[in-house]
Amino acid sequence: MGFSEPRYVGHMAFRGLAEYADGQPFEPKVNYIYGRGVRAGFVPVSPTKVYWFICFNRPDPGPKLTDPAALKAEALDLVRGWPSDLLAVMRSTPDGAVVRTPLVDRWLWPGLAPGASRGGRVVLAGDAWHPMTPNLGQGACCALEDAVVLARHLAGAAGAEAAMRAYEAERWARVFPLTARAGLVGALVQWENAAVCAARDGVVIPRLVRLGPFLEHTNFECDLLEPAPPSP
Ligand SMILES: Cc1cc2nc3c(=O)[nH]c(=O)nc-3n(C[C@H](O)[C@H](O)[C@H](O)COP(=O)(O)OP(=O)(O)OC[C@H]3O[C@@H](n4cnc5c(N)ncnc54)[C@H](O)[C@@H]3O)c2cc1C
Repeated sequence: MGFSEPRYVGHMAFRGLAEYADGQPFEPKVNYIYGRGVRAGFVPVSPTKVYWFICFNRPDPGPKLTDPAALKAEALDLVRGWPSDLLAVMRSTPDGAVVRTPLVDRWLWPGLAPGASRGGRVVLAGDAWHPMTPNLGQGACCALEDAVVLARHLAGAAGAEAAMRAYEAERWARVFPLTARAGLVGALVQWENAAVCAARDGVVIPRLVRLGPFLEHTNFECDLLEPAPPSP
């Protein structure tokens, strides 16, 4: 389709799923812990499972690690001495339930990015079209939104090619700003500089970040799955 390869943004993520057969002990909330160039979080996702992640800076992704025990050991090494809740969650994770992923994105610059569809026969959605860093937690959400919007356009009377173009125009306006914003947020929260981190921890997060406006980007109205009016 003529797109460039997704761009590595300079940090990687570990993700894991801890298992508590007798029930996990946490409150239903997301816990974030910020360090210098490293941040982590965990959140209960079921009565017996807790999801956790660590984002860390690294100039290049390096070789792919395949040994599950080595993956977990590297993750634990990154947060040695961090809060015991986080470490306990990580230790309750089966070796095979840890993955390490380089974080990448691709900005769909107006006028420069190739089209998302070709000839009414091929159309891109989700990460295949707009890979974004997970700093706003929106990649999979956007993939689902794409599917709804594409289905709505295809169900209209305009024909496949026009429907795909209308889908691209509608979705671009949402996914390009989100991709850019996620990239910028990632660059900010991964700062290693001690003074910047002190300002973040002492002022920006406790005093300036308000959860409502911060989560505003997650609002998306899918509308009913009715045919869209024919495209001009
Ligand atoms: C660390 C991290 C944290 C994230 N956190 C969040 C979050 O909190 N919220 C959120 O919304 N998103 C999050 N995301 C993003 C989310 O994972 C992706 O945006 C989402 O998975 C994209 O879905 P997709 O279906 O487009 O692509 P994928 O999930 O990549 O699915 C593509 C599928 O196609 C298969 N495939 C590839 N090539 C072929 C082929 N030739 N033939 C057949 N099959 C093929 C692949 O195996 C894969 O199963 C996160 C991502 C990362 C890396």
